[in-house]
Amino acid sequence: MVGSYALITGGGGGIGSATGKIFAREGSAGVAFADINFETATTAAEESKKYATNPAYRAIAIHVDVADETSVDAMVEQAVKEFGSLSYAVNSAGVSFTDRVGGMPKHSETNLGNLSTQEWERTMNINARGVFFSQRAEISAMLKTKSNNNYPENLSIINISSIGGLRALAPYASAYVPSKHAVIGLTKSAAFEHGPDGIRVNGVCPAFIETPSNAGNAEIAERVNKRMERSALRRVGKPEEVGEIIAFLSSEKASFVTAVDWAVDGGYTAA
Ligand code: NAD
Repeated sequence: MVGSYALITGGGGGIGSATGKIFAREGSAGVAFADINFETATTAAEESKKYATNPAYRAIAIHVDVADETSVDAMVEQAVKEFGSLSYAVNSAGVSFTDRVGGMPKHSETNLGNLSTQEWERTMNINARGVFFSQRAEISAMLKTKSNNNYPENLSIINISSIGGLRALAPYASAYVPSKHAVIGLTKSAAFEHGPDGIRVNGVCPAFIETPSNAGNAEIAERVNKRMERSALRRVGKPEEVGEIIAFLSSEKASFVTAVDWAVDGGYTAA
């Protein structure tokens, strides 16, 4: 990834901002941090500069709503305009089932029989359609730079799914789980369709990670900690522990790896 450019959606969030710092450390020439929260994206972009090992490193913040295709197309256009090419994309923007319309409901209100259409649509629009819109625009930008004979050899997209993309996860996640399964389907389809174009597409499936969305709420933090006591490592993960795997899968070191759904879960799904 030395000397190449990256775009991270959800770049203002826990996993996205940690990943951007690692890309900077690994020699990226530039990272675009895109988020619906422009303030956190700006902070992440600024902080990443402290980790940069490439003297030419540039970091920019972009406002995007991944549920809106016009906004997503504009995000990719802006990144390519600023950097000239795009080799890496990480689609990390997403909402959790712990962050629901109207707050976290009681267990009795949370099963599929009671799921509101509003909650379903919000979750699917951001987590699933958001990855579709993002991947489509990123692939198109990568192919365009490639056809200009001016592209780096290693092109990679990483989509952040969840262990909820691999299994049912929890009894109150009946919109989240389908949305994250869709992310795995989008990953594998894109990997097959664009492997011949030289683009690798991989999915990363974290278990519970200590990010603002989890750690910021004591009740949720307690539930999450209890759940992760069942994992092999008996603890929640850190955003950097996900970022290192994203960076590895993106890099040339993973040149024969595509279409995987890599669990970063402290062994949670082994149980
Ligand atoms: P986070 O809440 O810190 O980050 C998510 C980011 O996405 C936030 O910065 C938020 O502003 C942004 N976002 C939300 N809606 C958006 C929209 N419509 N357009 C653009 N940006 C939007 O949480 P995180 O843990 O860093 O989450 C990153 C990804 O990892 C998400 O897809 C999440 O579902 C997934 N994930 C997280 C965990 C966990 O425990 N933290 C576990 C499994 C999967």
